[in-house]
Amino acid sequence: MTSEHRTDLQHFGLFLDGRQVEALSGRTFESHDPYAGTTWATVADGGPEDVDRAVASARAAFEGEWGRMSGFDRAAILRRVAEAITENAERLALLEVRDSGKLLREMRGQLQGLGTWYSYFSGLADKLEGRTVPQLAPQTYFGYTIKRPVGVVGAITPWNSPLLLLTFKLAPLLAAGNTCVVKPSEHAPASTVAFAEVLHEAGLPAGVLNVVTGSDRATGEALAAHRGVDKVAFTGSTATGTKVAQAAVANVNRVTLELGGKSPQVVFADADLDAAANGLVAGVFAATGQTCMAGSRLIVHEDVRDELVAKVVARAEAIQQGDPTAADTEMGPVANRPQYEKVLGYLQGARDEGWTIATGGAPNEELGGLFVRPTVVVAAHDATIAREEVFGPVLTAYTFRDEDEAIRLANDTPYGLAGAVWTKDVHRAHRMVAAIRAGTVWVNAYRVVAPNMPFGGFGLSGIGRENGSAAVEEYLETTSVYIELTGGTRDPFKLG
Ligand code: NAD
Repeated sequence: MTSEHRTDLQHFGLFLDGRQVEALSGRTFESHDPYAGTTWATVADGGPEDVDRAVASARAAFEGEWGRMSGFDRAAILRRVAEAITENAERLALLEVRDSGKLLREMRGQLQGLGTWYSYFSGLADKLEGRTVPQLAPQTYFGYTIKRPVGVVGAITPWNSPLLLLTFKLAPLLAAGNTCVVKPSEHAPASTVAFAEVLHEAGLPAGVLNVVTGSDRATGEALAAHRGVDKVAFTGSTATGTKVAQAAVANVNRVTLELGGKSPQVVFADADLDAAANGLVAGVFAATGQTCMAGSRLIVHEDVRDELVAKVVARAEAIQQGDPTAADTEMGPVANRPQYEKVLGYLQGARDEGWTIATGGAPNEELGGLFVRPTVVVAAHDATIAREEVFGPVLTAYTFRDEDEAIRLANDTPYGLAGAVWTKDVHRAHRMVAAIRAGTVWVNAYRVVAPNMPFGGFGLSGIGRENGSAAVEEYLETTSVYIELTGGTRDPFKLG
């Protein structure tokens, strides 16, 4: 941490009330480029007192122009926001690459697609309809419900794909008429500040979206526990999510949690093994395996294990690692040193437990820095590396004999975020989809998300769903209205 920001670096402030400002303490912290191994930006180091300012700004916006705006007007702003994101996609993608080391081609794709979330949810902003409800006795009351925004939402986001994961919350919460304070990860804070600026310039009124960056957990803790917040929406690890939920519930606040995963890829003997190998690579080596939905467990029929593992190993060994901005790079570095150490720790643990490292298992010495080789471990279902979320480029493979065992192994996890089934048998595909306990199941595919498809997890993978039309409901309250119709006076001691 530095006490003042260096002039040779880019600088990002907090984003409060429609402009960048410094933290009240005047402190800043550094953001590191994991590929270059250098500091590339300084960022305002917001503390709890800045969270107070941001929540006050969001509250004022909620009670002001934005809160009084019709859904039609919010929809128009969201459509402009969608266009502005597309216009700024390249610049925002580059900021994400510098902060996280993710591939430019992936982040460019994400940012170019992100506007679709805002245009999809703009289509819902003017359709937040209540219902008329028949009453117990006719002609006594007219009953109806109205939908209204929850209020101020505190959003806490992780370092992998900060803008995509923020958007899963922001697009529906804005459509529903809420305002927001975001606390991005200390490992990738810059893009969220630039993003808020783009949205403001596109017409989002001041105070509707505020960003408080901070170097340690006190900033997130202050937001999660803030009494001026009405709902907390969190994406990150299960350990942190549990603490965030406890803090939110202490204020009887609503909470959405998108947490970790240990998702299975079940491959039957009849599957197209080339397609499955490709899906396994997409599932666990894309984004250097740093995705919540990583398909990190390969559960493969024993008859085809050797053939499939050989295909995945061959593809893994051909993966081009290097500069995230180069067009032919397929895998960048791990995003930060603590995560790098964590991945290497799991690989050492797998060796200590005696499992076979079929490929990888070590840093990429040629590149140095935070590069880890794509790794395939052949183990058993109870290996530590088969059970715990590594959040890195590590696939753990083990076998099954029949469908019942495949289901049992797929569900033998406290998580339930995603999973895939690879088979040509349509009957079996449907049976497996119904049997796997996960929020998303792909058949002969992996790693597809869309704004109109719900996303979230069972078990330790979270609470609630993002994306899909129902995501708006996560940010709405319902009020029931009774209007007296008879004009008469009722027995005050009788209910109803
Ligand atoms: P993390 O839990 O360490 O941090 C997430 C955010 O919480 C960061 O902004 C962090 O500063 C903040 N934070 C840390 N301690 C806090 C506290 N006590 N109170 C409030 N906020 C606090 O997660 P990470 O390392 O940034 O991200 C990786 C994790 O996120 C993985 O477990 C991954 O599976 C999960 N993830 C889940 C999804 C999903 O949609 N389910 C998506 C991406 C990542």
